[in-house]
Amino acid sequence: MICERLERVNERIASAAQRAGRQVSEIHLLAVTKTHPRPVVEEAIACGMTILGENRVQEADAKYAGVAGVELHLIGHLQRNKARSVPGLFSWVESIDSIATAEALSRRCADAEWPCSVLLQYNCSGEQTKSGYSDPELMLEEAIRIAALPSLELRGIMTIGPFVDDTREIARAFSVTRRLFERLQTQQPDGRIDTLSMGMTGDFETAIAEGSTEVRIGSALFGARE
Ligand SMILES: *Cc1c(COP(=O)(O)O)cnc(C)c1O
Repeated sequence: MICERLERVNERIASAAQRAGRQVSEIHLLAVTKTHPRPVVEEAIACGMTILGENRVQEADAKYAGVAGVELHLIGHLQRNKARSVPGLFSWVESIDSIATAEALSRRCADAEWPCSVLLQYNCSGEQTKSGYSDPELMLEEAIRIAALPSLELRGIMTIGPFVDDTREIARAFSVTRRLFERLQTQQPDGRIDTLSMGMTGDFETAIAEGSTEVRIGSALFGARE
């Protein structure tokens, strides 16, 4: 069941890439297992999914104990006092939204000798319920210091599209984010700024058209959440 859904999602990613004139190999699939139990994770891995995402530290910690051979990404907000739980569990944190959190994470990762890739979360919709940087200039300014922190490697930007029906509005928000991503690449010529994480079940084809390199898919793979 999950393997068939994966096949279908991969086909949709491939045709969206083709329509955009892009190589499908440029686009990575992150499978979001939040709210689903451990057996779902095991099935996902058996189907060949290797990049997995969770949005809460505690839930992930319980669910992923002893799971080997996967790359787990934190895609939900990271509280500064939870930074110590990242080493050993998440190899990526996609939700960096302040220098203070990045510094706390860097310290914990350095202590644990755990290298961690990070993305800056940009709030492209301006919706107040969403976390992330709302001010792009502040984000790019802090990026300079975040890129210099030990044990963290700054890899790009993550965003959540606006929750609206209007595809053009979603495309505009993704396009703005893509331009910020390009500015970040220009700002960090010696860095490895290669990841633009945008697109979920409802909008990943639009995100691919606007340059996404990583789509984060939950419901289309695992069914609706409670
Ligand atoms: C839940 C979640 C997703 C996946 O959402 P679907 O709509 O189920 O694909 C992607 N990104 C983030 C940050 C999420 O919290």
